[in-house]
Amino acid sequence: MKKITTIILLSVFWLAGAIAGEPVITREKAPEDAKWRLTDIYGSIEMWNNDLTRVNGLLDELVAMKGTLGKDSKNLLRYFTVSDEFEKIIYKLYCYTYLQRSLDSRDPSVSENFQRIRAFMVKSGQALSWVTPELVAIPEQTTMKWVAADPAFKPYKFGLENMYRLQEHVLPGEQEQLVSCFSGMSEIASSIYTEVAISDNVNPKFVRSNGDTVVLSRPMLSNILNFSNDREERKRAYETFSANYKARENTMAAIISSVAKTNNAYAQAYKFPNTLEAALNGNNIPVSVYENLIKVAGENSAPLQRYINLRKKILKLDDYAPWDGNVALGTVTRTYSYDEAKSIIKGALKPLGKEYMAGIDRALNGGWIDVYEGSAKETGAYSMGVYGVHPYILLNYDQTVNAVSTMAHELGHTMHSMFSSANQPFKTHDYSTFVAEVASNFNEELLLDYMLANSTNREERIALLDQAINSLIGSFYRQSQFADFELRLNRRIENGEPVNATILNSMMKELNDTYYGNTVMQHPYRDITWTQIMHFYNLPYYVYNYATSYAASARIHELITTGTPKERETALQNYITLLKSGGNDYPVEQLKKAGVDMTSTGPTLAVVKRLNELIDKLETELKS
Ligand SMILES: [Zn+2]
Repeated sequence: MKKITTIILLSVFWLAGAIAGEPVITREKAPEDAKWRLTDIYGSIEMWNNDLTRVNGLLDELVAMKGTLGKDSKNLLRYFTVSDEFEKIIYKLYCYTYLQRSLDSRDPSVSENFQRIRAFMVKSGQALSWVTPELVAIPEQTTMKWVAADPAFKPYKFGLENMYRLQEHVLPGEQEQLVSCFSGMSEIASSIYTEVAISDNVNPKFVRSNGDTVVLSRPMLSNILNFSNDREERKRAYETFSANYKARENTMAAIISSVAKTNNAYAQAYKFPNTLEAALNGNNIPVSVYENLIKVAGENSAPLQRYINLRKKILKLDDYAPWDGNVALGTVTRTYSYDEAKSIIKGALKPLGKEYMAGIDRALNGGWIDVYEGSAKETGAYSMGVYGVHPYILLNYDQTVNAVSTMAHELGHTMHSMFSSANQPFKTHDYSTFVAEVASNFNEELLLDYMLANSTNREERIALLDQAINSLIGSFYRQSQFADFELRLNRRIENGEPVNATILNSMMKELNDTYYGNTVMQHPYRDITWTQIMHFYNLPYYVYNYATSYAASARIHELITTGTPKERETALQNYITLLKSGGNDYPVEQLKKAGVDMTSTGPTLAVVKRLNELIDKLETELKS
């Protein structure tokens, strides 16, 4: 539901974002139309409570159906219908408290309600664990005959087909129960990582070059690497911060290999040939998509190295170190009021057509976006769809060009959710991670094109290009490199080979050499980035989604902006159809219908082309 916006913990090298200055407008002083209208979901907490009572009743109703699903088509359809109603209400109950909590995490009644709905979700998961085994036990032929005979089954057809496709990986009831006894233990490794990397982490003290002593947190490091003109200070900050992780590398190596060993145990238990197939099979993504991505990205690192060499020249450096990677080129001194951001974004997205723009108007009309920073408000940004209501966007709008870009990104998710909810039945409205970042990245690309075309300031254009290039490298190359690392790690475990910090460091070094060649100075701390990528520990085989989504959006950008007017129009219509299709098919198939074949090298090569084009533009600006 919640789409992850920022690519957190990209690495120290390409840390995104910087500390914002003092907020210009705070939530407390903001006009009402710059705040969420949560009454669109529930008019009062009584209504929320009533719905919670209602889902409890529905759960009892569903539990009472145990043993009846396969009896006849009426029973099965009744189960699906009640289950849909049940899930729709849970969605609303959950999102309402989630959004409230984002606005004020300190309100005890809000967090209490959040815990109540979370607890109910866990309880209902356990109470309904019999459903999948019971469904799979109905012969596929029987089910499909029922589905074909009654159009009311249409929304469930795809889910049922997918379930039968995966049936060889559903264990017999007793075995399933045995495996479920260990499900809590599979989370141990990732929770230890959170404790070691976050809870027990003590950020080092750091003396800045002006004599101030600061705590070197990640945002502070990012600030220094972005804005400090004192190279020596950047070096000290990078080394101090990294040394703090280096000191824990053996613990981190033990944790990451536990994660991989757990993956391997589950893959074997569920009869998958390896961990990669186990991870991709749920969405029916061919292993070749993953393998092609890392192969083609690794082989096409030339533009990445070209960019670093260009930066080296602009920054007048004899050598290029890990602490030089974030220094911004060009400056954007101007700020963008929220109203300006709205009109810039509208201008940028106009090529997407009337239907899309009508959606944007609704989203910007007030009540959907919580715009400004607040004292107890969650930081960052996200978009959350609430089926049957409308999506909500959280921003911490600070008037920077970055904030405009984030807003365009989140509006991409919001439009995707809006189109999917309006055009899909509940069962297939939600889209997979594999396609989730396409609409958001694509909006960012259109925004860049528009701002570059309309900017009258050379420095601003340089800064925009630099930012876009960094975002491309961070989302695509960096994540492909990490995906490659993850696969190598898991293969070692599958083959029974040893894993320790030394081995992991040398694996990362090899990949750094593949991607960066000799453009960046060798430094031992460059090879310990694996200790800092939270996704490796919490969401195995996840980072590749960032790279594939980026590639898909680059390819769509290529299709919509080049070719004959007729070809462009067709490409645009296919893209809008993709946004409307929710999760009604396997994600690779959905993208294929939008003209993007993720099993080919086309999308990946489109990113390579895009990067070269952006560097060309940057070079032109620098010469002017
Ligand atoms: Zn996103």
